[in-house]
Amino acid sequence: SNDEFFARSTAAIPGGVNSSIRAFASVGGRPYIVARAQGAHVYDVEGNEYIDLVQSYGAVILGHAHPAVTAAIATAAADGTSYGAPTPREMKLAETIAERVGSCEQVRFMNSGTEATSTAVRLARGYTGRDRVVIFHGNFHGATDALLAAGGSGVATLGLPGTAGVPAGAVAETMVVPYNQVPTLDDTVACVIVEPVAANMGVIAPAPGFLAGLRAECDRVGAVLVFDEVITGFRLGRGGAQDVFDIRPDLTTFGKVIGGGVPVGAVGGRRDLMETLTPLGPVFHSGTLSGNPLATAAGLAALDHLDADAYVELTARAGRLAALLDDACREAGFPARFPVVGTLVGMVCGDIEHPTDFEGAKRTDESAYARFFHAMLAEGVALAPGAYEAIFVGLAHTDDILDRVAERAQRAARAALAAVTR
Ligand code: PMP
Repeated sequence: SNDEFFARSTAAIPGGVNSSIRAFASVGGRPYIVARAQGAHVYDVEGNEYIDLVQSYGAVILGHAHPAVTAAIATAAADGTSYGAPTPREMKLAETIAERVGSCEQVRFMNSGTEATSTAVRLARGYTGRDRVVIFHGNFHGATDALLAAGGSGVATLGLPGTAGVPAGAVAETMVVPYNQVPTLDDTVACVIVEPVAANMGVIAPAPGFLAGLRAECDRVGAVLVFDEVITGFRLGRGGAQDVFDIRPDLTTFGKVIGGGVPVGAVGGRRDLMETLTPLGPVFHSGTLSGNPLATAAGLAALDHLDADAYVELTARAGRLAALLDDACREAGFPARFPVVGTLVGMVCGDIEHPTDFEGAKRTDESAYARFFHAMLAEGVALAPGAYEAIFVGLAHTDDILDRVAERAQRAARAALAAVTR
């Protein structure tokens, strides 16, 4: 049973999980233990079926076990899973990314989004010869020491570790500033790293002029502008958020979609910057499994299905999902809102203003989210176990499936309201 597996996992693995959010700490209860998944569905070890709106936090945009992706992985695996030498597939994936994302003249692969952001920061520092890094409160860039800094209340803060284990020295040059406000920079700044659409504090669009303002301010002081497109890359559109908002960053970090659900990360950008990496330049980078045959095969198969029509479809489905969740909550009288930015959907619980930054996002009613989450899970719909995560809709979420989400959400919203007012 789920209970037995989780108890055993908890004995063998800290908290029973390999990524903290999976433990359900913020919503209560214990996680379902996944045995398998297919398309829009995941199945737990007891055989319960859930319509999955987690989709590996956005990594599997075609749906689980898509036949083209699994076939590509099987073919690649039969030829060996890692060599420690260059391969044709990594070349093709780099070419494909460069073709679709104009700012990425070259691409270097690694194994996670975390590695991508840490490499981008090292690269920007090495290229500029400067140390300071500017990040935005409520953006998330993975488990990279320099980027795990604590933010203040609507003001710029410098050098506060965001978690135990990060030495003050690691974030001494990290400045945290409010999202959606263009900071004034100076010539100590190596880079500004930003989620062009914030997707780790609900889903928050960049304010008009915000990304253009960052571009101009980076240009003014000679700082490197890094777009963290680990979530938005190949999800918001074929050219990512930078294409949708028409801003050209110097560097872009990727993960998730470009590995088709197999571990991957990448940094792409301007050639002169990218060639600052070893072996051509002085900024060290390496990785035993980087450019992995399984990840690049899965990524190529996934990108192959992501043509312009796919994004038209995804945008329509995201809009429809948000509208039907919105209707369900409104009819039940359960206060919640579902912001949409292109193909990304968020959820904000409670009677609060539409958030534009982390100060606003934090007003979300987390306990109301926890109740809605559990009510949905009981109805067979899996949301992410955290009030600030995006709701991921993919090509596997057909209209039928969205209809079923609608019916279940109506019941779940009533149950969640009853639980709130009880
Ligand atoms: N950047 C962003 C915007 C992310 O959302 C995440 C993870 N969700 C990361 C970086 C880190 O990626 P990974 O979990 O693959 O290390």
